[in-house]
Amino acid sequence: MDLGISGKRALVCAASKGLGRGCAEALAEAGVDLVMNARGAEALEAAAADLRARFGVHVVTVPGDITTEAGRAGVLAEGPVDILVTNAGGPPPGTWTDWGREDFIKALDANMLAPIALMQALVPGMAARGWGRVVNITSQAVRAPIPALGLSNTARTGLTGFVAGMSRQVAPQGVTVNNLLPGIHATDRAISLDTAVARAGGITIEEAAQQRMATIPARRYGTPAEFGAMCAFLCSVHAGFIVGQNILLDGGATNMTM
Ligand code: NAP
Repeated sequence: MDLGISGKRALVCAASKGLGRGCAEALAEAGVDLVMNARGAEALEAAAADLRARFGVHVVTVPGDITTEAGRAGVLAEGPVDILVTNAGGPPPGTWTDWGREDFIKALDANMLAPIALMQALVPGMAARGWGRVVNITSQAVRAPIPALGLSNTARTGLTGFVAGMSRQVAPQGVTVNNLLPGIHATDRAISLDTAVARAGGITIEEAAQQRMATIPARRYGTPAEFGAMCAFLCSVHAGFIVGQNILLDGGATNMTM
């Protein structure tokens, strides 16, 4: 399927590895020029070089922490984009009684206020030009809370509430805003959560991964390529009627009817 977005320009945040990289790759395959961000310059440039070589698209790299004002100023200095994919690392696991104000502020900055600030900066330009796409990478925890990830549950649910309202306000101008909710995907983040489960249970990391895969009807973790393909479709010309949705990619792990 031709996604109809060749020649458009996208900002993909937190894109040197994992799900962000999967999204960048699928957009590059569709002919989209990219502004890619992550903190580590070396891995970011390596990812960009790979996409330039394989897909012939123009890729600019902007190293920086997207959860800070300075990091966002760096990517915004690259100018307007047609497509925005927001992403950042997830908060650490813990127990609900452990977290203080600073922990909450950090999680809110990373997983709620940073994507909101990027949308506030970039969506008005999309609306003025009459076309735009925003995909926020959130989590299955928005649909079904993961108790140990209370900071993530809290911040991402706040972002979801914001998007529910604002997506309806910008739809008349041809801009769609949707959230993609990953279940467990095979990335560094999954390995770090496998490691936490292994430590807590006194088992190996492989055993922890097997335990977690057994809870997923698909009996495996998702891949960044599968995730990226859904992101690229949401950014395509075919997805203009999908507005304010929360799309779960979890191999059936969340047990529910709707
Ligand atoms: P990942 O494999 O750890 O990749 C994270 C990517 O984000 C890397 O490129 C990293 O590069 C970049 N990054 C992290 N923090 C950043 C920051 N503050 N500013 C800029 N770039 C940053 O993570 P992932 O699995 O792709 O997860 C992506 C998001 O989905 C996270 O929020 C995660 O919590 C959420 N999620 C993931 C899963 C899963 O199973 N994978 C499930 C549910 C939710 P640098 O370190 O160089 O910055």
